[in-house]
Amino acid sequence: MDEPGHASGQRIQIRNVSKVFGEDTAKPFRALKPVSMDIRAGEFVSVVGPSGCGKSTLMLMVAGLLARTSGDILVGGSMVDRPLTDVGIAFQDHLLLDFRTALGNVMLHADIRGLPKGDIEARAKELFAQLRLEHAMGKYPRQLSGGMRQRVSLIRTLVHDPSVILMDEPFGALDALTRLQVRSDLEALWMRRRPTVLFITHSVEEAVGLSDRIFVMSPSPGEVVEEIHVDLPRPRPIALGDAPEFGHYVDRIYRQFERMGVLHGLSVPGRGGDEA
Ligand code: ADP
Repeated sequence: MDEPGHASGQRIQIRNVSKVFGEDTAKPFRALKPVSMDIRAGEFVSVVGPSGCGKSTLMLMVAGLLARTSGDILVGGSMVDRPLTDVGIAFQDHLLLDFRTALGNVMLHADIRGLPKGDIEARAKELFAQLRLEHAMGKYPRQLSGGMRQRVSLIRTLVHDPSVILMDEPFGALDALTRLQVRSDLEALWMRRRPTVLFITHSVEEAVGLSDRIFVMSPSPGEVVEEIHVDLPRPRPIALGDAPEFGHYVDRIYRQFERMGVLHGLSVPGRGGDEA
């Protein structure tokens, strides 16, 4: 049941989905042009694009938390018309509850959704062990570093074994080194169960380090301008910076940003770090 490579995810079909905020007002605002993505079951897909291009808006619509203006979204073949339940969602702010221990925070799902406590706790402990965090289970968020809190939040996202994972800049608040570590941890966890992941980031390096496929978006109102298949073996090394085949993908995306006027004066490709 836990074999590497086993696909447990669901296909996500996004067909001509767009968003206009305030449609019925005097000042409607187009946040997203029609966007289409067909994401295979078990695929890891990233969306990169400049701030404000509509990435979070797209994710909220996939989660069924925001109404779309046009188009269809299907998850596992079913139209999304209410909030998804078989989903793990992670945002930049880890939102752990101060008065619950790390394990208590992870168990929140079981408590709220009435899931079988014993099974979830066993899975939680397995995930704490995989992330080398057993010692943190009984600690409160204030006793943990930012990186540890983010990994606890990652465990909470994964603990009920969702078939779809939606992540919006989950590592944005972490320092560069911690970010590399958590990225690598996420890849390892994903490889074990293969949920379908839609990962939103403005870090080009992070997208290349994690993804099977990357959708590059234009500035606001966003649309998909390029789709890149990342043909690199897994698990990918933590320090990708010096590998030429990695740099090829990173450069390609930066060039696209340059063409769109998002970046200027790219005489030296912006490689080496993990920040966009
Ligand atoms: P990104 O995640 O790519 O940074 P967002 O999806 O958060 O972009 O936002 C896209 C655009 O839509 C931004 O200009 C943002 O200000 C606007 N926007 C987001 N949510 C709302 C809302 N509820 N009402 C009006 N405008 C919004």
